[in-house]
Amino acid sequence: MTNNQSYEETLAHVSTFSKPSELRITDIRFTDIMGGPFHSSLIKVFTNQGLVGFGEVRDGADKLYAQMLKGRLLGENPCNIDKLFRRIKQFGGHARQGGGVSGLEIALWDLAGKAYGIPIYQMLGGKFRDKIRMYCDTEVVGKDTGTAMGLALKKRMEEGFSFLKMDLGIGQIINEPGTLSAPLGFLEEMRDVSKNRYNPNNDSLTDEERRDIRNKHYDIHNIPHPFTAIHVTEKGLDMLEQYVADVRAVIGYEVPLAVDHFGHIGLEDCIKLGRRVDKFNLAWMEDMLPWQYTEQYAKLARAVATPICTGEDIYLKENFRPLLQAGGVSVIHPDVLTTGGILETKKIGDMAQEYGVAMAIHMAESPIACLAAAHVAAATENFMALEYHSCEVPWWDDIIISSKLPKKLVQNGFIQMTDAPGLGIDDLNDEVLAQHLHPFIPGLWEPTDNWNHYHSNDRLWS
Ligand SMILES: [Mg+2]
Repeated sequence: MTNNQSYEETLAHVSTFSKPSELRITDIRFTDIMGGPFHSSLIKVFTNQGLVGFGEVRDGADKLYAQMLKGRLLGENPCNIDKLFRRIKQFGGHARQGGGVSGLEIALWDLAGKAYGIPIYQMLGGKFRDKIRMYCDTEVVGKDTGTAMGLALKKRMEEGFSFLKMDLGIGQIINEPGTLSAPLGFLEEMRDVSKNRYNPNNDSLTDEERRDIRNKHYDIHNIPHPFTAIHVTEKGLDMLEQYVADVRAVIGYEVPLAVDHFGHIGLEDCIKLGRRVDKFNLAWMEDMLPWQYTEQYAKLARAVATPICTGEDIYLKENFRPLLQAGGVSVIHPDVLTTGGILETKKIGDMAQEYGVAMAIHMAESPIACLAAAHVAAATENFMALEYHSCEVPWWDDIIISSKLPKKLVQNGFIQMTDAPGLGIDDLNDEVLAQHLHPFIPGLWEPTDNWNHYHSNDRLWS
């Protein structure tokens, strides 16, 4: 050290967070935002050394799933990620219910990375790739035709995206007479419920009206596929087939195109539709059936030539295994914020690889979740592409503050991995968050002391 260097200048080159063994969790707080692209509950895990770890509850989930775990994590060393995950994993569940455990798990990885000064992918075994291929879910604004969708996808390709996804399903033909058969009156009821869909920004409704709309929507859209008695007619199949033909006519056959949101139709109709669109060389057909129907997935996979994909609602590695063993999927599509987090997703990817199955990753959240997924994607060999829902959200990148990450995370269809510790996020931009708070859940990082002492005798065996 030269004499003219100040103490502060010296300190700038020294890690002040250099005691990982003594790191302890002191607080956990939340901020709920809307529109990035959906409802996200962002998490800060505070420590006794000034380090803050960032996490996020799964899109559209309730932060309650994370809050209830606070008392079990306070005072613990966040670097003991797997130990803490095993302590809280019984309190997670499928789909949004996995959001609390998973969202906190990624914050632990962020803290461990920051404490030791290394990126998360490095703690997972290192990189298979330096940049992460992103794919865009794409919607058409205005009249939905195959040609309009083709043009929207073409625009994505011009922006640099090398992998595409769109919706294809009964939602696109429900207003055309003669395309669907269903118990008379049922389709009208579905249309009515969708038209009046619950909108949290509509504050002219009373609480009772809001609850009523929400419950009606829930009831009709929670009839599982085999029980709706909706069947697609030859006219309906013709229209859906033509839609994909029109899309391919615009974008060509060289770019991978995945398809999602078929609607609640049973196995036989999935097969009929799948056979019609096999010729369009699709990358995968996603969530055609509820993922729990393992044998139906196996039948579907045997009946069509297009790769079958599911996984965004599956919690824990053990619940992916039956689908893989049955040969029901060619691509899995876990969400890091549902599976149990970063390490569980890496393990799921590695298990799928043993079955010759590729891993794409579902993601519809803020840059926090996106980066968590990107680190797993970098460190898992059979990774294919990571979902990106926020092309049209101009403030999405502004949520985070980082001295090491590119200002725009997704560039030319890829995320470039860096050497930044943890997730690579220095802080969150409260000014931006304040502009996008959830209308019913206002407040920025408010105290959660009332959750400090929740606990129960919750061992699952005696
Ligand atoms: Mg999906």
